[in-house]
Amino acid sequence: MKMAAGNWKMNKTPNEAVEFIQNLKDKVKDAETEVVVAVPYVAIPAVVETCKGTNIKVGAQNVHWEDSGAYTGEVSCSMLKELGVQYVIIGHSERREYFAETDETVNKKAHAILNAGMTPIICCGESLTQREQGVTKEHIRYQIKIALLGLTKEQVSKLVIAYEPIWAIGTGKTATAQQAEEACYVIRELVKELYDEETAESVRILYGGSVKASNAKELFDMPNIDGGLIGGASLKLDEYVAIVNYN
Ligand code: PGA
Repeated sequence: MKMAAGNWKMNKTPNEAVEFIQNLKDKVKDAETEVVVAVPYVAIPAVVETCKGTNIKVGAQNVHWEDSGAYTGEVSCSMLKELGVQYVIIGHSERREYFAETDETVNKKAHAILNAGMTPIICCGESLTQREQGVTKEHIRYQIKIALLGLTKEQVSKLVIAYEPIWAIGTGKTATAQQAEEACYVIRELVKELYDEETAESVRILYGGSVKASNAKELFDMPNIDGGLIGGASLKLDEYVAIVNYN
């Protein structure tokens, strides 16, 4: 099953979030795509409540790797788990750029999320300079290799990895289906090399970066693309519904 994960970023208040989900739920109830909305922390309780009895799953956009303690402003996996969160996005390029997220912290977070019984959505992706210098493959291999350090085959088979070229995020410039497919293939091959074929086949690999209703089908139909991580377009009801129901 393909996945359409909405990354709302720092958008919508709790009330706006609930209203959006109320309008969304009937429109996606027969979807053949897995529907996930990664909403701001403060909207999580209300959104989980609104999603009860629907096929919409709730995600968070970050987490700390420690379970409790003196970490002012942070939120732990057990807190998210207790609220009913199922997915947590980690390593997003915006968090790497503005909040000092590193491959090492992504790895710690991946362990913590899996140990808490949730699923990480691990983001990776190259900058425009890296693409132009021809080091895209090396860069994403490096990011994912560190992110997966110490994870078992069973853990990796449940993972979601999102390939998000930084130059395509929020820019309206989507990677071509071919470019996205190539990068997702690189990731799947790496998982095969580090684990085995079975693990590589079960890990889900998403493309993210200006996914919209008009390009979702072309991207999601690619053999190594298992769906999308969708930013801007996931905030617009009709656009997001069209992506979820792309088929
Ligand atoms: P975008 O964002 O769809 O607005 O490009 C994608 C993301 O950052 O996950």
